[in-house]
Amino acid sequence: MITHTGGCHCGRVRFEVLAPAKLEVSECNCSICGKAGYLHLVVPADRFKLLSGGDALKTYTFNTHTAKHLFCSTCGIKSFYVPRSHPDGFSVNARCLDRGTVSDLSIRPFNGREWEKQYPEGRGEYPQ
Ligand SMILES: [Zn+2]
Repeated sequence: MITHTGGCHCGRVRFEVLAPAKLEVSECNCSICGKAGYLHLVVPADRFKLLSGGDALKTYTFNTHTAKHLFCSTCGIKSFYVPRSHPDGFSVNARCLDRGTVSDLSIRPFNGREWEKQYPEGRGEYPQ
């Protein structure tokens, strides 16, 4: 595990996340991720730290309102959020990580259009 840093486009929102250098992320095709091209790196809360920009974040919710879609009120970028599958953790957008620490990025498709079939228990596990 190493520390990656990242943030939004304008730089108000900055965070660090503890994850392997070789990342496995998922590309979701649901109504919101598909439009944004979001690449999910899901981590437990204790591996994520918001460094700045808490006051810049706006929250968007829809459908079950479980997921908290957090975006920067200045630049509009969603660099991380609280996913419906892991409401006690975070999903970091791998596209928003700073260059230099990710040695390999493998992208796995995720069928979020049938979310309930993917998560019959109503939530997901954390990858190791
Ligand atoms: Zn911003």
